[in-house]
Amino acid sequence: MSLLEIRDLRVVYPNGLEALKSVSLTAEAGEVIAIVGRSGAGKSTLLRCINGLQSPTSGSIRLEGRELTTLTPRELQAVRRRIGFVWQEFNLVDRLPVITNVLCGRLGHAGEGPSLLGYFDRSHREIALRNLERVNLLERADQRADRLSGGEKQRISIARAITQEPTLILADEPVASLDPELAWQVMEDLARVAREDRLLALINIHQVALAKHFVDRVIGIARGSVVFDGPIKDFDDAAMTRVYRFDKPAIPAHPIEMEEALHER
Ligand code: ADP
Repeated sequence: MSLLEIRDLRVVYPNGLEALKSVSLTAEAGEVIAIVGRSGAGKSTLLRCINGLQSPTSGSIRLEGRELTTLTPRELQAVRRRIGFVWQEFNLVDRLPVITNVLCGRLGHAGEGPSLLGYFDRSHREIALRNLERVNLLERADQRADRLSGGEKQRISIARAITQEPTLILADEPVASLDPELAWQVMEDLARVAREDRLLALINIHQVALAKHFVDRVIGIARGSVVFDGPIKDFDDAAMTRVYRFDKPAIPAHPIEMEEALHER
């Protein structure tokens, strides 16, 4: 059994747009995977289905052998504790200290969890502090989150996600708002902690050139279908073309993607 098994996933939005056609993939614990494709290809829709934020029209998603598409809301809530999310815009609570933001990763741990924000018991704090240290931001623990740079904020959100002790991390364009140097550090931290904890990490990312340094495998999506799935070393020009080029290009093409596609060629 694979950690994640997706079969024939299809999503048709209420306006009739078929965002995912028949997506199938499997992924294992410890894999760091980039999901690439043009803007509008269906990458976010795929992550939202896995996270239970979007109901598929048909198909199956199994996480640790458990079918996610037929869960009750309460069951889904329990499964979502096993899934850490890293968002493009960080989603930190700006006015709270960094450590409290990281401790939010413990909120889903019912029973053993904190009763009130600010009154976390020692074991939770120890986990959170250890994870802050793993992203080299321990010295920021008591600062307000809004005092940090964008790169630091994203590394805090990675610390929060792993503090949840998930089996799967979903990252939706985690470095799209960051300068290249900060983006490098964020990807390095994300890939390293995922490997150390043997998590599966699925990372939606525009910057193929950056992703290449950190991921094991690439899944390329074009117009709602998987058009490449393989090790990063096999993601060559032909694969790049399949993912980023069409005979009838959707307009407007995302400038960053086009620049990257041309640069890579
Ligand atoms: P990506 O993450 O690759 O940019 P998305 O999954 O966000 O792509 O979107 C895939 C397609 O679905 C796009 O054409 C987008 O405009 C469309 N789409 C996304 N969300 C909705 C929605 N809630 N309703 C209708 N269409 C949507």
